[in-house]
Amino acid sequence: MLIDTHAHLDLPQFDRDRDEVIRRALDNGVGLIINPGIHVESSRAAIRLAEKHESVYAAVGVHAHDAATYTDTTIDELVRLAEHPKVVAIGECGLDFYRDYAPHDLQRSVFREQIRLAKAVKKPLIVHSRGAEAEVLRMLVEERAKSVRGILHCFGGTLEEAKQARALGFHVGFGGTLTYPKADRLALATSFVIDSIVIETDAPYLAPVPHRGRRNEPAFLRYSAEKLAEPGPFTLDDVHRITSHNARRLFRIGDPDMTRIAYNIRNSLYLNITNRCTLSCTFCPKTHGEYSVKGHNLKLEREPTVDEIMESIGNPGRWREIVFCGYGESTLRLDAMKEVARRLKALGVKRIRLDTDGLANFVYGRDVTPELEGLVDAVSVSLNTPDEESYNRICRPGRPGNAYEGAKEFIRRVKRVVPEVTVTAVGLPNLDAEAVRRMAEEELGVRFRCREYNIVG
Ligand code: SF4
Ligand SMILES: [Zn+2]
Ligand SMILES: [Zn+2]
Repeated sequence: MLIDTHAHLDLPQFDRDRDEVIRRALDNGVGLIINPGIHVESSRAAIRLAEKHESVYAAVGVHAHDAATYTDTTIDELVRLAEHPKVVAIGECGLDFYRDYAPHDLQRSVFREQIRLAKAVKKPLIVHSRGAEAEVLRMLVEERAKSVRGILHCFGGTLEEAKQARALGFHVGFGGTLTYPKADRLALATSFVIDSIVIETDAPYLAPVPHRGRRNEPAFLRYSAEKLAEPGPFTLDDVHRITSHNARRLFRIGDPDMTRIAYNIRNSLYLNITNRCTLSCTFCPKTHGEYSVKGHNLKLEREPTVDEIMESIGNPGRWREIVFCGYGESTLRLDAMKEVARRLKALGVKRIRLDTDGLANFVYGRDVTPELEGLVDAVSVSLNTPDEESYNRICRPGRPGNAYEGAKEFIRRVKRVVPEVTVTAVGLPNLDAEAVRRMAEEELGVRFRCREYNIVG
């Protein structure tokens, strides 16, 4: 299912066939639509639409273009409207120095008031920014909007600005422009973190190819989703799941936080069998309480049994590989892990991979690598650092002893029984990934892969 996070269905362009447009959206897999207001009257209309249609939610706000409609009573009215149970955000609001329909100072003050409103009512912001990205970001920092988060919709800024938005807890919204021949938005979107992307139509504007130049509508969202999936590595399924999960979490719609034991990304199925770790890595989102990965919530209320793991895998035949990964160290459940691998092998699974910290021998005080023979086809060890000192500082082993040497020894041993062994390092700003590569390839005789910082899965 897709979620159109930005469509102005209250505008007169839809007077003729509004209900049909919403029906067509559902028929085309767009299960939810967020309709932001552009001034008070439009916000009221958005709420009326949300009351009438289960699949429509509203946001209330005053657009930069309509800043002149903002009067002394506007804020009270918006506070009142924001209480409605189907109002999920404040917006659209922001700055537009491109069309320049309202004086800049007025735009700024109206935007600032709405950021404060969002904080007061504890709802995220839907932000419009055109020709003003740097200033919008600066104001969001000044007003500490990180506590409410939001979307920079129809994102027109640079990759650097998108990263700044992400650091503020904001998502960036992409729409029809993904399909335009210039392709700069598509390049930006695919080089950005998909966990911080939502998709939108901005209907009735900015229709995607092949409807470019005509009225846009939520049903056309699928063209943007297809375009986003086209260059890979994410499949169309991934794009549907991840972008809707992002939107649901932001707007707190439905239950996006159903825990996953088995979860898929691309053509691999990942198994999340524990949240326990031997390490407490400084860069790990889990250490900041964040358990969401590529549209899946990995926070386990309790550790699943072998039967529960098998049940959540379902038919393993459709996956290219099955990976013990998740938010935790699978080898801390060595027996359960081996039993699941044994059952998967009996079902004919060709490739089973273990993503590990490589500390199993260190933890168990014995060499467990022979027990993996025939059960695991590939092992990926996240070593991350080129020496013990930085390992202790960044990966922070919770047990006394030389964990770093333990991990290296594990690698030497596991390559005797597992055909494919890779050492990985997270590309942290101050870490010498090249030194880890040299050690992996020259000293340990295994492959190396650098993983992007702050990205799991
Ligand atoms: S081992 Fe993995 S899951 Fe555990 S703290 Fe480190 S990065 Fe996070
Ligand atoms: Zn806009
Ligand atoms: Zn808009």
